[in-house]
Amino acid sequence: MNEPRDFVTSCPIPIVDYPNVLLAHGSGGKLMHQLIEKIFRPAFQNSYLNQQHDGAVFEVEGKRLAFTTDSYVIRPIFFPGGDIGSLAVHGTVNDLAMCGAKPLFLSAGFVVEEGFPMESLWRVVQSMKQAAQAAGVEVVTGDTKVVDKGKGDGIFINTAGIGVLEHNRTIRPDQVKVGDTILLSGDIGRHGIAVMAVREGLQFDSAIESDSAAVHHLVLKLIGVGIQVHCLRDLTRGGLASALVEIARTSKTKIAIDETKVPVREDVKAACEILGLDPFYVANEGRFIAFVASKDVEHAITIMRNDPLGVSAEQIGKVEAGEAGLVTVRSQIGTSRILDMLTGEQLPRIC
Ligand code: MG
Repeated sequence: MNEPRDFVTSCPIPIVDYPNVLLAHGSGGKLMHQLIEKIFRPAFQNSYLNQQHDGAVFEVEGKRLAFTTDSYVIRPIFFPGGDIGSLAVHGTVNDLAMCGAKPLFLSAGFVVEEGFPMESLWRVVQSMKQAAQAAGVEVVTGDTKVVDKGKGDGIFINTAGIGVLEHNRTIRPDQVKVGDTILLSGDIGRHGIAVMAVREGLQFDSAIESDSAAVHHLVLKLIGVGIQVHCLRDLTRGGLASALVEIARTSKTKIAIDETKVPVREDVKAACEILGLDPFYVANEGRFIAFVASKDVEHAITIMRNDPLGVSAEQIGKVEAGEAGLVTVRSQIGTSRILDMLTGEQLPRIC
């Protein structure tokens, strides 16, 4: 008799390669995708997960809702431009926004290490409160767990979010079409550099602050005026490069980017050079790319640049006919390189 089809007898990630989980398995790069593709997706397999989107969109009594979750393990918990509390709100709100949803409700789960200063917990929670109020969402349910001293690292937060889609558009990777224009909402690399600067003790003339922000107002404005938005992706772990490669692969299209159009602040560029980082792979927490129909590009750029979160928005590339999953970048001097996901870990625990 044949074995049941879903009966797996051995771990699909060869034990000789990775007998244990590495930090890089959480990086947003190749190893994390291997984990998702070989362990998580086959186990939980369903049509929602298979869309490889920032959240699941499903219908309840004629209304479309979006549902997402994210855990926050950033170190240090306080950094220029934010902290783990505001980040836990922005990150989840943004994942809902990337589904085209208006964020409504969040849950908050806290894992706190014994000995963590009560004053720090209070500051984190106040920051969450302010971020939620500013974003127009409510934290409606939660959980607290305390682990033994030395068995955690201060505080970890998980937030899940629910939002509603108030339009009939489908926004997800498989909607990307040849001819679409790719818009970037602003300069990249600030979140990762702000956090690394604290860790490495780097001093700049003026502090580089994280771009951490909730971007749903801007996204909903674009959708609301009728811009044909086909796909959205926030540029968190793995940065712009990983987001582009993920979408090219999921949508089975080829993407061509013009490097000179990608805004990176001079101080961020300099810090990347000192730290040996490529800004294309550095995390952001208030930046996204939008794949829009080319006829709507001028209108979309005008709306973005008129919003405080999109003042430096740029048209950075196009979706072209060609090898599925390929992302090419044209440099200042006219040469072309292929973008791939990182194999190792560039910046662990950045969000
Ligand atoms: Mg995301």
